[in-house]
Amino acid sequence: MRKGVMRPGHVQIRVLDIEEAVKHYVDLIGLIETDRDEQGRVYLKGWTEVDKYSVVLREADEPGMDFMGFKCVDEATIDSLAEDVRKLGIEVKEIPAGDLKDCGRRMQFVAPTGHTFELYATKEQTGKWGVSNVNPEAWPRDLKGMKATRFDHCLLYGDDLEGNLELFETLGFGLAEQVLDPDNNRVALFLTASMKAHDVAFIKHAEKGKFHHASFYLDTWENVLRAADLISMTNTSLDIGPTRHGLTHGQTIYFFDPSGNRNEVFCGGDYYYPDHEPTTWKAEDLGKAIFYHDRQLNERFLSVLT
Ligand code: FE
Repeated sequence: MRKGVMRPGHVQIRVLDIEEAVKHYVDLIGLIETDRDEQGRVYLKGWTEVDKYSVVLREADEPGMDFMGFKCVDEATIDSLAEDVRKLGIEVKEIPAGDLKDCGRRMQFVAPTGHTFELYATKEQTGKWGVSNVNPEAWPRDLKGMKATRFDHCLLYGDDLEGNLELFETLGFGLAEQVLDPDNNRVALFLTASMKAHDVAFIKHAEKGKFHHASFYLDTWENVLRAADLISMTNTSLDIGPTRHGLTHGQTIYFFDPSGNRNEVFCGGDYYYPDHEPTTWKAEDLGKAIFYHDRQLNERFLSVLT
């Protein structure tokens, strides 16, 4: 059942060269730069998002994800959820307000798969970018590149999927979709705190804490095709697509940022209510589950992680 987690609020991504990365996320994906901090981190958002930022880029020696944060309804909720997480034997530390610019305190912990997550309730709201909150126009006319509307989800690779399922169910997420191997062990989890097909997903992998992709939402299939054109026009490294997923049924394309982190832009996808039974895919049909048209996996999709 729902426990007050609203949505994926932000992801902090490590990049090798901050200016090269900003060019990619702003000029190609179409995110808006909203601020920078004294550590040199750059804050970005999709134009429909009401909070000040949803993507934080940090320059580092290795690519990957530092953490993913979920926004909760209020401050009391992050305290009570932190208590629930501690009861699972997971250590939770409180990061003071202001560590991320214009963000309140965050309750941070490491999931059984080795990924760092955090819960927070307060962040400066700057409203949708480029349109008024009163009689809003359909879209701002000066968007760049793929015109991504919002940060949508992350897909992460790690070992202890059952541990993560217990953790995320404790946080009030529902299991929307799963992949089962022939012995009925879960090898993929698609978890949602909302009506979306997924807010975060995990695929079973021997190594802990790996980052597969951060995904951004586009409005239409036409815009996914247009994104593919832009990937070619800019000689950006393509992973696969445009195609459709079996899992979630979203229409998608994958590509890489200049540091080797995978990005996705997608549209469509199934919806979820808390009384839905999980949709199950069989691992024998994983090709079709992941790439519905090709019905086979490319090796890169499974093995290139940051
Ligand atoms: Fe995705």
